[in-house]
Amino acid sequence: MTEKTEEKSLLREVWDALSFSEIRTAMRVALKHMFVKPVTFQYPREKRTIPDAHRGALGLLRYDDGTERCVGCDLCEAACPSRCIKVVSAENPERPLSRYATEFYIDITKCVFCGYCVEACPVNALAMTKMYEYSTADKRQLIFDKKRLYEIGEKHIEDAKRYLYAHNQEKNDTESLQYRYKFPHQVAGLTPPQDS
Ligand code: SF4
Ligand code: SF4
Repeated sequence: MTEKTEEKSLLREVWDALSFSEIRTAMRVALKHMFVKPVTFQYPREKRTIPDAHRGALGLLRYDDGTERCVGCDLCEAACPSRCIKVVSAENPERPLSRYATEFYIDITKCVFCGYCVEACPVNALAMTKMYEYSTADKRQLIFDKKRLYEIGEKHIEDAKRYLYAHNQEKNDTESLQYRYKFPHQVAGLTPPQDS
């Protein structure tokens, strides 16, 4: 660097310091952003719109007449890769040969929200909801028992049904068609589902 350039750069630094150049630049940036639409959500005051296919907390569902859907078959327990479901079943004393879950536990701390349990259920007794605010300091509260799972199912029944439609597991209606999976090829011995 020549002597002349050095002198110029020193003068520049002195001028910047005297004219508060850095503060003016910062103010300009701050003012500019006052008129830009923010992209961050002010959680918890503002919340995102959750898509119907979202995999949130699991809930157990009842039929419209209030009967528990779950027949205690254990398929969800067998399908769970995290081994976080425990089902205890018994024969229904009021309806011989039919079974129901006497106890049902999901350790939500181990759940990876894969949705396999929902897919495995033959009667759509399980569904995922849009519920995601259940953090707690007491880990024991994150083992959802049957009562809690039915409470979640009741409270979020509409979201749970939308989840089943979105994943093509229940009811062939117009709402579910837009999400409908298609078999890429005809599977031997299987009739592909009819859209109607
Ligand atoms: S979503 Fe997956 S990990 Fe969670 S309980 Fe169901 S099968 Fe298990
Ligand atoms: S939730 Fe479904 S798969 Fe699991 S035990 Fe009940 S009926 Fe069987």
